[in-house]
Amino acid sequence: MGPPGWKLSAIPPAPADNAPPSLERPTNRLEMLAYLNNIALQPTHPQIRALVAQINAIGDRQVSKLIISGLSLVPESRIGAICAQLDAEAIVAAIELIAQVFSSPPTLLVFDRSDRRDLRSLLRMARKRCRLLGLVTRYPAAHPAVLARITSGCRAVDPVDEGIVSVDLLSCLLLGRALQNRARSSHRPVQIFTTGHVPRVIWAAIGAPVHDIFLQAGIDPGAMQCIANGMLAGRELNLSTALMQWDIETLALRPFPKLEVAVDCIRCGWCVQSCPTAINPAALYASQRLHEGVALADRRDSLACIDCGLCSYICPSRLPLSASIAEMRNQIEFNLVSAAGGSSI
Ligand code: SF4
Ligand code: SF4
Repeated sequence: MGPPGWKLSAIPPAPADNAPPSLERPTNRLEMLAYLNNIALQPTHPQIRALVAQINAIGDRQVSKLIISGLSLVPESRIGAICAQLDAEAIVAAIELIAQVFSSPPTLLVFDRSDRRDLRSLLRMARKRCRLLGLVTRYPAAHPAVLARITSGCRAVDPVDEGIVSVDLLSCLLLGRALQNRARSSHRPVQIFTTGHVPRVIWAAIGAPVHDIFLQAGIDPGAMQCIANGMLAGRELNLSTALMQWDIETLALRPFPKLEVAVDCIRCGWCVQSCPTAINPAALYASQRLHEGVALADRRDSLACIDCGLCSYICPSRLPLSASIAEMRNQIEFNLVSAAGGSSI
């Protein structure tokens, strides 16, 4: 939905793309993997990488449902509406291809109801292929596991285990542009927020200094704090060194806040109530702190954490719950991979 002042009509056109490779249209999952590799976005682009991971995980099993998500994991982002405004035809071409490669499963296009007007042409074109579902979204509904639960009653931590594949609209846009031989963009749309300026979308070159991206948007970042991908689960960037990456959807500037000091848990239970995956952040945090005495294998519930950041946000004791759970989850995943004789990436 976005804040007041949004003008999607003000999205500038994409910069000229590099010369695209001329590639055969893929007709099956293996060819799709090669195709995604060849459009040169796969190694660095998180959503394309997620699509590759899902194709690998599902192998030749039947896909029970294909979810095309117009939602964003960053609460203030309107990436779905932006992509739809940029090139609805390319998106629909990509949806057709993905559905064909997965043997035409039931396909659902999920969007934020408040974006309906900006998505109008995409919805009109997509309705022949997909069932449309407009949601009144609540963060973090865009996460594939949460979305699969809301739309399909899926209880699996990884929806692919129940045959559900999900793809976001930015991936569809990139894939669709590749199909039209207009791919290998080295830029992506990014939303810029700061006080005193109307929020805007600009095309940012991957690898460019983030500082220069603000200058490109007509904003001098000065001595401000820069947060990528929102205040809930985003990360702080060092403006002297940070470079633009594919996974940066929003950039926000704000004055540096006063540092708050964490105090002991007061057992209010708010983190438990707010967790969308129904795990117990306070208990996991306590286990993480007592780490040596606790068998990590007993805390596999942390694998269900989706890094939404709600528990840390809401904690009145300012405890770093989500960062601590992420550390625990990474360690458990590393142990599982090591025990299986593989290598952790
Ligand atoms: S970050 Fe916190 S609230 Fe979000 S899923 Fe993980 S434990 Fe739950
Ligand atoms: S929200 Fe914070 S203070 Fe409350 S139970 Fe959870 S960890 Fe403890």
